[in-house]
Amino acid sequence: MKKTILLLLLIVAAVQLKAQTGKTQNVVIVTLDGFRWQELYRGADSALINSKFTEDRKGIEKKYWAVTAEERRKLLLPFIWSVLAQNGQLYGDRDLGNHDEVANPYHFSYPGYNEIFTGFPDVRMNTNDPITNPNQNVLEFLNKQKGFENKVAVFSSWERFPQILNVNRSGLLVNSGYMDFTAANANDRLKYLNELQHKAPYYLGDSTRIDFLTYEFGKEYLKQYKPRVLYLAFDETDDLAHAGNYQFYLDRVHQEDGFIRELWQYLQSDPQYKNKTTLIITCDHGRGDAPLEKWRDHGSDVVHSEQTWFAVIGPDTPALGIIKTPTTTYHKQLAQTIAKLLGFDFKANAGHEGGEAIGSVTDHK
Ligand SMILES: [Zn+2]
Repeated sequence: MKKTILLLLLIVAAVQLKAQTGKTQNVVIVTLDGFRWQELYRGADSALINSKFTEDRKGIEKKYWAVTAEERRKLLLPFIWSVLAQNGQLYGDRDLGNHDEVANPYHFSYPGYNEIFTGFPDVRMNTNDPITNPNQNVLEFLNKQKGFENKVAVFSSWERFPQILNVNRSGLLVNSGYMDFTAANANDRLKYLNELQHKAPYYLGDSTRIDFLTYEFGKEYLKQYKPRVLYLAFDETDDLAHAGNYQFYLDRVHQEDGFIRELWQYLQSDPQYKNKTTLIITCDHGRGDAPLEKWRDHGSDVVHSEQTWFAVIGPDTPALGIIKTPTTTYHKQLAQTIAKLLGFDFKANAGHEGGEAIGSVTDHK
């Protein structure tokens, strides 16, 4: 009798444990470096189109201009404003009173990516130099969990990610900048990308890879190796904004929206991923907005560059569309949100302070 009761209790406990974990078995993260919430929610900006930052006004208007913000943003980011907006969630639309921010005081890349992946806006991370990050990150944590070993991979345009994600300690696969992909069993397409990337023009300098190559590497890796966690870090939006080229800034993000559409279509066509994968899209920092030329810049001295956004679509995330509640989410919450979607507690095991998971993302109804 006692044994039967114990067995029943165990079954109840197991069922409860199962009920607490969601449907997400894989996570894909995409970052668009320094892409502003202003263009995400309002589309192309008429003040910038009619400024010295636009050379071909007619050309940009033909592609991205419409009377309402709703129409403009859909022209700029058709995937985000169709599939994702209808089936996922979007945070940081300040025109509707919802705020998303970085918690770190610096508003540039290394501190921003450190915050996203460690959950800790560590004030020591105040440089873009190649210093090794002492903090454990959520990708490293996941890579140690049962069923995730060597199933976590990162492809980035910016060459700084091996330090940000501390590959020497974490052992993560981080393919950054113009690094070749050297696994012995790599398929022909990956080998060809190794060849191609050294022949493509070095528009972002000798070290930072142009984004379509990063995307192609990530996509081919996904197809051959089927990781459970994949992170793609794009860079061009930030570079083109610094260069003061508004048309190219919009063109790059428009094309990246297309990459994300292709990625999502693949994920939804493959049995390992279909309806079991959460996709999170975000950025590492915002940019200025006043005076007008501050759109090029970001940093602690650039007003409003802490203002960011993120978007998410997946089987555990209710399809609420644009979040309109007067709340503020912080990027330090994303690490625990990612872990929780996969049924893990990173915060308790990180070895440092960290943000709470964002309940409206993880708590499926
Ligand atoms: Zn920048």
